[in-house]
Amino acid sequence: MDQATIDALRTHIIPDQTHLIDGQNIPAQSGKLLDVFSPIDGTRLTGIAAGTQADADHAVAAARRTFEAGTWAKQPPSARKKVLMRLADLIEAEALALTILGVRDNGTEIAMALKAEAMSCAGTFRYYAEAIDKTYGEIAPTASGTLGLIHREPVGVVAAIVPWNFPLMIGAWKIAPALAAGNSVVLKPGESASLSLLRLGALAHEAGLPDGALNVVTGTGPEVGAALALSMDVAVLAFTGSGGTGRRLLEYSAQSNMKRVYLELGGKSPNVVFADTPDLDRAAQVTANGIFRNAGQVCVAGSRLIVESSIHDDFVAAVQHHAEAMRVGDPLSVDTDIGAVHSDAQLQIDLTAVTRAQSEGASLITGGTQILQGSGGTYMAPTILSRVAPQSDLFQREVFGPVLSVTAFDTEDEAIALANGTDLGLAAGVFTGGLSRAHRMIAAIRSGVVHVNTYGGADMTVPLSGHKQSGNGSDKSLHALEKYQDLKTAWIAL
Ligand code: NAD
Repeated sequence: MDQATIDALRTHIIPDQTHLIDGQNIPAQSGKLLDVFSPIDGTRLTGIAAGTQADADHAVAAARRTFEAGTWAKQPPSARKKVLMRLADLIEAEALALTILGVRDNGTEIAMALKAEAMSCAGTFRYYAEAIDKTYGEIAPTASGTLGLIHREPVGVVAAIVPWNFPLMIGAWKIAPALAAGNSVVLKPGESASLSLLRLGALAHEAGLPDGALNVVTGTGPEVGAALALSMDVAVLAFTGSGGTGRRLLEYSAQSNMKRVYLELGGKSPNVVFADTPDLDRAAQVTANGIFRNAGQVCVAGSRLIVESSIHDDFVAAVQHHAEAMRVGDPLSVDTDIGAVHSDAQLQIDLTAVTRAQSEGASLITGGTQILQGSGGTYMAPTILSRVAPQSDLFQREVFGPVLSVTAFDTEDEAIALANGTDLGLAAGVFTGGLSRAHRMIAAIRSGVVHVNTYGGADMTVPLSGHKQSGNGSDKSLHALEKYQDLKTAWIAL
């Protein structure tokens, strides 16, 4: 990844976009476009189709027709595998261009995006392509002397609604297992980060996916997302996004066909640092990376530092040192550690969270301000607030910005109570030199992921599962395949 190649690609003109429905590029039936602005400098990048219910219904009908025709669903797993492997190759072949397109749209720093977006997306398609001809039904030892066969069947039409922060990675977490299992998919990207997923749709077509097996419909949540969630023909809805939207989707499911709804929601993840941690400076650096990369716009970000009182001041100073050394700015520069805040609206949420925390008694250690760049765009300094009370808004609510709250503890029990002291349970970190303590903390913390002496890191072999109000079901790993399959039992008299 060299700067000259990135600079050559960063100004490519992006034509107005269409939906991808039934293998065709189709404008919105309303004839309207939504403007897309780049968080890098605030300029207009292009327009995307402003979808409505009519477009969503069109896409669901196409997906259903393809499913019923069996041109994908009834292909042998080895044939589906071949197409998905070809898709992974195509993604990888244009990984840099695809990543740059996504970064212009959403503002993630390129070093992180190349790995977390295009490369991870290709890896996800490979993982489920490889898995699908190796996972099949079972024979049950029934007591009644009949033969019990357990089949796994595709569910039909899957709708995937995804956010703007890692569109290719999160999109692939849903599309790849759903397609591998034989379903047809209608994907709705976040309205402010649709471009790389539209390109993914085109590549899927080029790889040989039949028309209608993957449809991409762009537009706002209340228009396109709600239409998918209310559709009588969608069997499974896979969602990543905010808790508020997740709650609404459950209601839409109840109001329509009671479709299964899988939710991957927000977090307010604790990062607990004990005084017995052998290398505290390394822990401080990992802590800073764990919250500030992608300007804190990471669902698993370690946004609550919970640190033992005896090392509090030194440890916070070390995190501050690492935070202030991180370079904030142009996400398309290879030297940038923290890219843009995704939008002005998100920046205002981040800044307001800081002033509110201060009004609730927290002390500002560093940051708290917008960073103005000559070229425009939305940037914010990595921010640390200490003395954050457990009842306060900053402790309880996800900001989704580069804001770290710090709270001190004296005993292990107190650390556990603080770690578990919110309604969310997505991820956590524990830094300690004690093996037994590490295991006690893993058992005690109520979250889907517990990192020990590290923070972050992605691998397809392990699931990401929200506990409490961070969601249900899992993305990644073989467990995610089950979301897109129905089990069917056959009893055969012998
Ligand atoms: P969001 O809920 O506003 O939007 C997510 C998606 O839902 C978008 O495509 C949006 O258009 C759509 N949507 C919005 N309103 C809708 C409605 N009424 N009906 C149907 N669809 C609707 O979330 P966001 O701001 O795009 O993303 C940030 C959130 O996502 C954060 O809370 C973050 O923690 C969470 N997130 C979670 C994970 C995870 O794996 N758990 C990963 C990334 C992001």
